[in-house]
Amino acid sequence: MLQTLLFGVAALAIIAAVVIRLFCYRHWVRQRVLKRELPDHWRPLLARQVPIYLRLPDTLKQRLEKHVQLFMAEKTFFGCDGYEVTEPVQLTVAGHACLLILGRHYADYDHVHSVLIYPGAYAVDEEVTDGLVVSRHQEVRSGQASDYGQVILSWEDCEATLEHPGADHNVILHEFAHQLDYLDGSPNGAPPLLRDEAGQWQQVMSTAFAELQATLKHPGRQPWLDPYGATDPAEFFAVLTEAFFQQPRQLKSHQPGVYQQLAHFYNLDPLQFSANSPDGQLNGFPPSINMRE
Ligand SMILES: [Zn+2]
Repeated sequence: MLQTLLFGVAALAIIAAVVIRLFCYRHWVRQRVLKRELPDHWRPLLARQVPIYLRLPDTLKQRLEKHVQLFMAEKTFFGCDGYEVTEPVQLTVAGHACLLILGRHYADYDHVHSVLIYPGAYAVDEEVTDGLVVSRHQEVRSGQASDYGQVILSWEDCEATLEHPGADHNVILHEFAHQLDYLDGSPNGAPPLLRDEAGQWQQVMSTAFAELQATLKHPGRQPWLDPYGATDPAEFFAVLTEAFFQQPRQLKSHQPGVYQQLAHFYNLDPLQFSANSPDGQLNGFPPSINMRE
């Protein structure tokens, strides 16, 4: 009996030591990364590849740089179909991804370990089950986020985003919004929220989602948001996130309640740094070309 008890205590002590060591080690490594100076050539690259970077106030700009340093040090990039992932490409992804956690904790991306980049839209085999009938078809995608910490992107679609910084579509923001949605386990359009916040989020988002779906049933009415957001609540959150950062003025004008919920979740008010936005598309959105997940 005593032996069993001692064995149990020893096992718990070892587990505790491993957990503490893992957390302390990660903290220690991150502090080492953050002590390094940002490479000189990164700031001009961020300015070119992440248009919003130059409009950020200094405090947020420095915070974004720190997040980017960690992201570049920790996440693994893979090129697919022969695509060569260069440093500017990595910084483009890191800069946009870290915008989403600018007002939050870097730990929100602890579960993200890799980014796969295709040169353009890529095809995946999809299996659809309808009762006893299973059918397969190919789907063309511009991006995808998985619950095991992987993000897949089409560089052609990322570049299109850079060419139209005021458009509502940004595939990088979209897929990393899904990663935040995965934080509480279920990709349901409701990222982790405090209990007293969840009720209001649910009410505001459900109403806005229903409005978008209703608008799409009337061929003559143009929705205020990319129609892809009407696919399901998870896509709605991802598409709203794109609009929140890319077209905050339009989003706040059409859905002030939604804007308020997102501003609270992201702990940011993009309107404050979008006054001089080169946004030339106030009343429209480019058609979605490829499927997003
Ligand atoms: Zn999606």
